[in-house]
Amino acid sequence: MYRAFLIKYAEIVLKGKNRYLFEEALVRNISYQLKNVEGSFSVRRENGRVYVEADGAYDYDGTVEALQGVFGITGICPVVLTEDEGFERLAETVTDFVAASFPDRSFTFKVDARRARKNYPMTSMEINAALGERILMAFPETKVDVHHPQVMISVEIRPLINIYATEIPGPGGMPLGTAGRGMLLLSGGIDSPVAGYMVARRGVALEATYFHAPPYTSERAKQKVVDLARKLSAWAGPVKLHVVNFTDIQLDIYEKCPHEQLTIIMRRYMMSIAEHFAGEGKCLGLITGESIGQVASQTMQSLAVTNEVCHMPVYRPLIAMDKQEIVKIAEKIDTYETSILPFEDCCTIFVAKHPVTKPTLKSIERSEKRLKEVMDELVKKAVDTAETIVVTNEP
Ligand code: ATP
Ligand code: MG
Repeated sequence: MYRAFLIKYAEIVLKGKNRYLFEEALVRNISYQLKNVEGSFSVRRENGRVYVEADGAYDYDGTVEALQGVFGITGICPVVLTEDEGFERLAETVTDFVAASFPDRSFTFKVDARRARKNYPMTSMEINAALGERILMAFPETKVDVHHPQVMISVEIRPLINIYATEIPGPGGMPLGTAGRGMLLLSGGIDSPVAGYMVARRGVALEATYFHAPPYTSERAKQKVVDLARKLSAWAGPVKLHVVNFTDIQLDIYEKCPHEQLTIIMRRYMMSIAEHFAGEGKCLGLITGESIGQVASQTMQSLAVTNEVCHMPVYRPLIAMDKQEIVKIAEKIDTYETSILPFEDCCTIFVAKHPVTKPTLKSIERSEKRLKEVMDELVKKAVDTAETIVVTNEP
């Protein structure tokens, strides 16, 4: 019965030019997601609305699922669009709509008419009353309840009349690309993909940097991160992934610095190198999966010392979340199963038995002085030899 969907989005923050950019991005991102769905679709903006219309046969469930992956959408309403051919014709269309949409009609309802076009010959209240009466007549088992209806039948008088009664929740957030670009430090763990998802949901397009340490970390560990980037790209669009060989840097730190400081010093170099690529990619900030107290390198003291090397803002969307909450999101966005595969990432091999939990900047900087001679050279080499992969969600 449905050939079209009315796309709802939170418009409160939208004014002037922002609204136009928001809607343009929404249309673009919807079209991108629908590419993998069976059917041919047109996506259009019309008078502050976005519509998806199928041209011929299409996969309804696949379409809804794809739309549920488009950030910025708050609701997906399967809608009947009909010409204005007078009230009699409208009443028939609405009763047909109720008959087809609700096989079981023992429900309470309310008609919610709105006129975006004020030249319609009846007021909204008159339409509500008249249509309500026609529905009651056609389906005596229904009841009107204007306060807490089980079914809300929306009838919007626009250039075309929109009739809908179902709103499937969308993912919310802002359309991808409307909030700039961020550089995600993506490891093979559970947290960083979730952090990327959360920031992408606010409209931020993603690039990513992964540090590996061959031969201490395997090709499989790298493949796991590429797979995670692919899963993320289902939500976040194409992700440019920089794979940095971190082995020489790690070995140099391992050789010259106190082992309880390894992780912190390593993390500082990771941040610096990620920031280098972020600058090249015009990213406005770094994104990590850090969360207070999760491990020694994520105490507030450790985070402060890590943060000290960064010039860009560092976004840490998981900072106050418990692991359980993070896992729940990882499951929802389908990264969890990949994240728990057992391939070690580079940190796990070079961790000390008793890492510092309350480092001071002074002590860390003192240790880093010992790296002085060769480190600039090693960092430059790591940057120059990094591999760049554009990861997409295409099958
Ligand atoms: P995750 O589950 O995301 O791996 P974690 O709990 O293992 O996090 P850490 O290893 O301390 O925590 O890493 C904290 C953050 O630092 C990660 O969320 C990620 O953003 C970044 N990070 C850690 N290791 C790497 C890596 N090998 N490559 C890129 N980023 C990394
Ligand atoms: Mg990790």
